[in-house]
Amino acid sequence: MAWRDIEIAREFLASETGPIVRDWGGRVPIALIYANSYAVGMSSLAIHGLYQHLNALPGLVVERAFAWLDRRPRANTPVLTLESQQSIAEAAVVAASLSFEMDYFNLVAMLRRAQIPLRAEERDEGDPLVLLGGPAVSANPMPLSPLADATLIGEIEPILEPLGQVLAEMVIHSREETLDALARIPGLYVPQRHRGEPVLRQHLANLDAYPTGTAIVAPRAEFGDLHLVELSRGCGHGCRFCLAGRWYRPYRERSLDSILEQVQQGPPELSRVGLVSAAASDYTRVDELASTLQEMGYELSVSSLRIRPLAPALVDALARTGSRSITLAPEAGSERLRQLIRKGITHDDILQATELVKGRFASLKLYFMIGLPMEEDEDIDEILSLVGQVRERFERQVVVNLTPFVPKAHTPWERMPMAPAPVLEERMSRLREGCRRLRVELRAEAVSAAHVQGVLARGDARVGEALLNMRNPTPGRFERALADAGLSMEEELAAREPEEPLPWDWVRVVAPRDPRETAIQSCPPGEPDHD
Ligand code: SF4
Repeated sequence: MAWRDIEIAREFLASETGPIVRDWGGRVPIALIYANSYAVGMSSLAIHGLYQHLNALPGLVVERAFAWLDRRPRANTPVLTLESQQSIAEAAVVAASLSFEMDYFNLVAMLRRAQIPLRAEERDEGDPLVLLGGPAVSANPMPLSPLADATLIGEIEPILEPLGQVLAEMVIHSREETLDALARIPGLYVPQRHRGEPVLRQHLANLDAYPTGTAIVAPRAEFGDLHLVELSRGCGHGCRFCLAGRWYRPYRERSLDSILEQVQQGPPELSRVGLVSAAASDYTRVDELASTLQEMGYELSVSSLRIRPLAPALVDALARTGSRSITLAPEAGSERLRQLIRKGITHDDILQATELVKGRFASLKLYFMIGLPMEEDEDIDEILSLVGQVRERFERQVVVNLTPFVPKAHTPWERMPMAPAPVLEERMSRLREGCRRLRVELRAEAVSAAHVQGVLARGDARVGEALLNMRNPTPGRFERALADAGLSMEEELAAREPEEPLPWDWVRVVAPRDPRETAIQSCPPGEPDHD
């Protein structure tokens, strides 16, 4: 094992405050892995929450590993845990939290580098169990079903106890017995035991029961200067394209007291608080929260804001406490398209929001999607017209972030096609040219990457086999790997007919319905849903 890799892991560990370093003796070692960089992984509340909650269970010891620490790895770079610098292959369990489909490539590469057999059926008693979780793999577990020993559908907190017990007892049970026991836990999908029966998504009813925030101060993380605190989970709005809005239903909030207590007990070296939620301005007592945190002397930051309601007190607190940039997401340029996607905001709302933030932040980011179903050329013109009107009002830096629409499982638009590359490229280049004229910076996701994401988001086990067959798993080589498996990108991205079964049909997202929310059922390609 390269000494340099051990030294780098030690260096990163030494830069942190709060990691739990324990002897493995008498405990079942879990390698909690994040299939992306340390900087991104340590900015994910999922990693902080899992580290905290799993380490608190009896009989387990949890250590973290990342796809890379300081620089992109080579194919033979070992994957070491930070805490004890041991290979993840030495752990009894490799648990991966996957937020984005594109990280599937990194996950496969990590297992290859650690010399862990990629397919669950090829692993035996001496190999770790591979457990997966996170919104992407949970919504459609099929592409990674050949790789996973078990995949958690939904949130972990409701099953922490039974899961912890099964893992702690791995030392006295065979691998087959452990898989049987995992398959009996609600919400766990064990591909080798699954016969098509429904698996119900798990969700935590009372967020206060599990405070979730920064567990380790990691100055080298992207948001290493923030004490991250989860405000709420889910979203009461029903944008038709949005997985987060559907998957985390129903909308749940932490109590104000529990948030304030968490902030007070947080790391004393962090004076900036990052409020994490789908839309911080939706929090019921947002004004009180913002003003109290400000009075307590904290600087504030939020992961995202909705344009309506915008919560002036929160905007005020963000500006006063030093936030330099603010992000708004109109998603579409025209009123017609915003109504179709159910964004619930008007042209006037966007301009009013711009008036509210102008002069108070150095930078305004605007998020838009292209390639939305039923999008026409005029909708692209209207993006530019809207950006122009925002530009007239907001005189400092304006940045447009552009992503192609990717249909996601469990959304009403799960059967919609993805726009072909030439259409997306042409629309992107018109927007690029228009933004240049408006002196607005444009940052766009590559069309090819969005298409790969689209295939993985709706793929089945054959797509997963193509991924596992890649010797050097990278998005750029995926189309070729699909072709080798007899699959085509074009067919994978096409509309799914109403009668066509979907790979994730057995995943059930039943949740108490909020009367404000719109229906969850899928709508056929080419037609709006009429809920
Ligand atoms: S407001 Fe819409 S896009 Fe934002 S999280 Fe909620 S459903 Fe998703």
